[in-house]
Amino acid sequence: MRVVVVGGGIGGLALGAGLRRRGYEVAVFDRDTDVAHTGGYHITLDERAQSALRELVEPHLVRRLLASASALRHRDRDAFWDRRGRLLGFGPELGGGAGVDVDRITLRTLLAEAVGDDLHLGRTVSGVERGGADRGGVDQGGLDRGGAGRGGDGAPRVLFADAAPVTADLVVGADGTHSLVARHLAGGPVNSPAGIVGVSGRTARGDLSAGERRRLGLRSGLATGPRGSALYVGFLDPVGNAALDAPELRMSRTTGPTYIWGAMVAEAAAACLRGLRGAELRDALPGLFRERGWAGHTLEVIARADPDSVAAYRFHAASTRAGDLAPWPAGRITALGDAVHATPPTAGMGAGAAIRDAAALLRHLGDAGEGGTALVEAVGRFEAGMRRRGSEVLTLGMRTVRLILAADSPVDAAAEVGGLR
Ligand SMILES: Cc1cc2nc3c(=O)[nH]c(=O)nc-3n(C[C@H](O)[C@H](O)[C@H](O)COP(=O)(O)OP(=O)(O)OC[C@H]3O[C@@H](n4cnc5c(N)ncnc54)[C@H](O)[C@@H]3O)c2cc1C
Repeated sequence: MRVVVVGGGIGGLALGAGLRRRGYEVAVFDRDTDVAHTGGYHITLDERAQSALRELVEPHLVRRLLASASALRHRDRDAFWDRRGRLLGFGPELGGGAGVDVDRITLRTLLAEAVGDDLHLGRTVSGVERGGADRGGVDQGGLDRGGAGRGGDGAPRVLFADAAPVTADLVVGADGTHSLVARHLAGGPVNSPAGIVGVSGRTARGDLSAGERRRLGLRSGLATGPRGSALYVGFLDPVGNAALDAPELRMSRTTGPTYIWGAMVAEAAAACLRGLRGAELRDALPGLFRERGWAGHTLEVIARADPDSVAAYRFHAASTRAGDLAPWPAGRITALGDAVHATPPTAGMGAGAAIRDAAALLRHLGDAGEGGTALVEAVGRFEAGMRRRGSEVLTLGMRTVRLILAADSPVDAAAEVGGLR
């Protein structure tokens, strides 16, 4: 069976690696020209994501991943702060869990290695086309297909603006939040802006004042403030907190104790950040937070960030209801990961869910009998599980988004002014 995967991010590469390992013919296409020259900070992989990964890649790659990852169990439990930097409480103990944080670039590089020469970089997919007698439904990412891509027993095709189409038995869209494949299948958008703009960056722990180092500690934390403002500060130390003590296998991008922070603001307030990048973006943020009553020292982690690491992005979210996800009948074109269940980073589970989707699809394909009908039935079973998984991570991610946005109401502003908060 020949499978074509559109998108070589985390989910697409995980699937490509698993298919190749099981002897399928596979081709993964990504528009990026280098897997390492991409954005991204750290990715959290819980136990379920790691066990899915073990199904997909060889054990030695898992060992290299763990040797390059920061173990959550070595970190102090998470803290919750207010905007003045006052401690409100702690999250649960992390000691028992096997969760890890890994640099996105490290994870993507390892997965790309597993896919080998079945990964084709610098290849932007311009459309997908369903197979069967009704071929002719070419979609260039437009929104008016009215549910194309379903049914059709013939082989689907992947189209490129600058190269010949590629035919497959199964096409999988792993092309992320703005997925062309999922839009084609659904006949319209499958997610929408969640109302928050995030700005992220990385700051070496050693670049902070002693006071802030002491306050933030060797832990991650979340602070929320008024008028839709929040600051997540994640602690990453793949060297000191390595999940597997095997320095000879280490390939982490992060080489010392580092805070990966994400400042979040309600979209309406973020207009002043539009078009800014790097140092300009970093330097504009503290003012926005100070206007909302944040204490200066809590913003030091932003002010001391490496300017090249600072980037803004808009949160997108699909519906939290399982029944709304992948709203198409099963066929020989499907999708996984953010393409189906775009999740704000507030859950820290988007990549893990994409990896679990990949492992589930591989399992269902392995269980399917011969023939097109068996393939479509296997895809149907896979999509049913993916809807449940997607709903679970979206529900978690949206809980934090709603908490932040709840503080963006006129009542909240009045309470703030009156000192009632
Ligand atoms: C640049 C970037 C940085 C990120 N940083 C973080 C982070 O710091 N922390 C975090 O938790 N999550 C981050 N994420 C999101 C996280 O990686 C995803 O939520 C998760 O991995 C889901 O994986 P996915 O495979 O569904 O999508 P993604 O990992 O987003 O991969 C989608 C891939 O599809 C490719 N693609 C899209 N359209 C086309 C096309 N038409 N033709 C060819 N290729 C196409 C993209 O280049 C991309 O590589 C980031 C995503 C990206 C793209």
